[in-house]
Amino acid sequence: MGKPTVGIFGLTGCAGDQLVILNCEDQLLDLVALIDIRDFLMASSENRTDCPLDVALVEGAVLTNRDAERLRAIRQRSNLLVALGTCAVWGGVAALDRGADRSQLLEEVYGEAGHGYDSSHAQALREIVRVDLNITGCPIEKEHFLAAIAALLNGDTPVYPSYPVCTECRMQENNCLLMERGLPCCGPVTAAGCGARCPDLRVPCIGCRGPMADANPVSLLEVLEQKGFDRRQAAARLRTFAPEGVA
Ligand code: SF4
Ligand code: SF4
Repeated sequence: MGKPTVGIFGLTGCAGDQLVILNCEDQLLDLVALIDIRDFLMASSENRTDCPLDVALVEGAVLTNRDAERLRAIRQRSNLLVALGTCAVWGGVAALDRGADRSQLLEEVYGEAGHGYDSSHAQALREIVRVDLNITGCPIEKEHFLAAIAALLNGDTPVYPSYPVCTECRMQENNCLLMERGLPCCGPVTAAGCGARCPDLRVPCIGCRGPMADANPVSLLEVLEQKGFDRRQAAARLRTFAPEGVA
């Protein structure tokens, strides 16, 4: 059997997740020995843009009709589709304005010219096509990408943490920034996997990995209110990387 064919793509986003893949320097030779990367514009100008793919990894959110068309075309040529990073999984920071009038926003930023732009509210990939695996993170963790490739090569599904950042934070015996210092930490509702990188440096988590399964943002909002934060501002903070489910 030949090597699995893989494509790596970016929609609207910062390309940080694709950079994480390119930064797997110690593993890149092993990777290209195991998988056949056919289409990866960030890494090569010679790509097979229409061949069938076993796996497509797609970064970024859908913010234009062009993004949506590209995503549908990628889905059509791929056996498995993996959403790569918080923008692809949740819409990311760009989804902050989902409740706002898009045409008004475009006019405020670009004036009259804004009306002609191909631009829509940010959507996660799963809102447009079927997604087989989500790898969240802003950007993703290198180990999570490598684990996904290893698992997919074995016909398996990678297992990622199902608990919140707080668990990793407490495992490192950090004092709690929220409960002990009254700082607006999003750790209780955020998917773990980063090793509590920010609270470990005494910086409150802003939730960049998106919400964990079964997150209870309403309860965290109540705690933040008890700590003296304005409910609207606290809710906006919780919504930064997770447009859904925050009151
Ligand atoms: S500092 Fe933040 S991540 Fe750490 S335990 Fe407290 S709320 Fe959770
Ligand atoms: S601690 Fe929070 S903000 Fe920092 S990397 Fe982890 S999820 Fe992102």
